[in-house]
Amino acid sequence: MRSGIDEAARFVKGASKAVVLTGAGMSTEAGIPDFRSKAGWWNQVDPMTLATPDAVELNYDQFHAFYADRVRRLEGIVPTPGHVILANWELAGRVALTATQNVDGLHQAAGSRNVKELHGSIAGFCCHLCRARADRTSFLCRENCSCGGPLRPEVVLFGESLPQLAWDSTVQAIEEADLVIVIGTSLQVYPVNSLPSLTDGHLILINAEPTGQESAFDVFIQGKAGASLRAIDDLL
Ligand SMILES: [Zn+2]
Repeated sequence: MRSGIDEAARFVKGASKAVVLTGAGMSTEAGIPDFRSKAGWWNQVDPMTLATPDAVELNYDQFHAFYADRVRRLEGIVPTPGHVILANWELAGRVALTATQNVDGLHQAAGSRNVKELHGSIAGFCCHLCRARADRTSFLCRENCSCGGPLRPEVVLFGESLPQLAWDSTVQAIEEADLVIVIGTSLQVYPVNSLPSLTDGHLILINAEPTGQESAFDVFIQGKAGASLRAIDDLL
């Protein structure tokens, strides 16, 4: 790991338009369980079956219970030191853009400004049918939209397309990047997993587990996001 950290620090030091791409592993240390792990949020039901348009339309009781739980659990969650390090790298002119698969808003809370939420945000709510904005209380109280439609968080459900503007900005930034740092994602979800290959810059992967895609990266650091970022930051 040591040599990986050294090399990563060299890349970060030399970067002026890096792109950071984060997944669930970035937020687990803040106390937000990985969406895909069945332990935690929901004991018996696979979240994959609830985070779908079908669930909103056919199984709203469980859909609502699942997301109301996620929304409430986010109260009091604060960014990790790793989030703060990334925000500082943006402030220092090293990072140009942070794209995240997380819906928790922790990058913005840490101070990152140019954040693209590829899977939407759990801090906003809308009508599933007409997309009119709604507030948190209305969602938590299970109110309906004035059009009669059910309310939902503004997250991208499985089978829905990604927000086009956020996606286009991310692709452009990666094409122009001198460094892409992928953190805490197993890179299994299309199309986000296609992003790293778009850069001509250096590539760093930080993940707790091997993803099987290490060979595509200049540096693979196997470790938790916070500790790995701290180790790199200490060398800058
Ligand atoms: Zn509506």
